[in-house]
Amino acid sequence: MSTKSKVPPPTRSSLRQKRSQRLRLLKRRMTEVMLYHGWHRSNLGVEIGYSRSTVANVILGYMPPAPEFITRIDLVYDQMVMERIARKTILSRHALPKRLVINEDFGRCDVCHWHFVRVNKKQKRCSDECRRYARRFMSKRRKR
Ligand SMILES: [Zn+2]
Repeated sequence: MSTKSKVPPPTRSSLRQKRSQRLRLLKRRMTEVMLYHGWHRSNLGVEIGYSRSTVANVILGYMPPAPEFITRIDLVYDQMVMERIARKTILSRHALPKRLVINEDFGRCDVCHWHFVRVNKKQKRCSDECRRYARRFMSKRRKR
């Protein structure tokens, strides 16, 4: 008596199911990459060397993706993941919680070139130090 469990041979419907699973994963990766970079389909197309319409057709399910297409999507996806994991530095005036979502857009300080969360749309400098520096050394040329 063997203890091995019998694996049934793949049926046609199970194969189809597997393929649709893979397609769903591909689509999810595509949307995740596009959201991360703020890309449209055309941008994604340029990045992986396919046309916008090919990207759209795959997303809408009108066209099966070529193997080459899938590998290129995987490549862009892996790059995104690496970029996400990369260490980032945040200075905060407040104690930081373990998880933090920042919904506000960033600005870039024109003195120290750090990115910062703006208090209002017109804010140009990140801190009082940079504001003071700008006032002292970056003032516009005075009229004679
Ligand atoms: Zn600054």
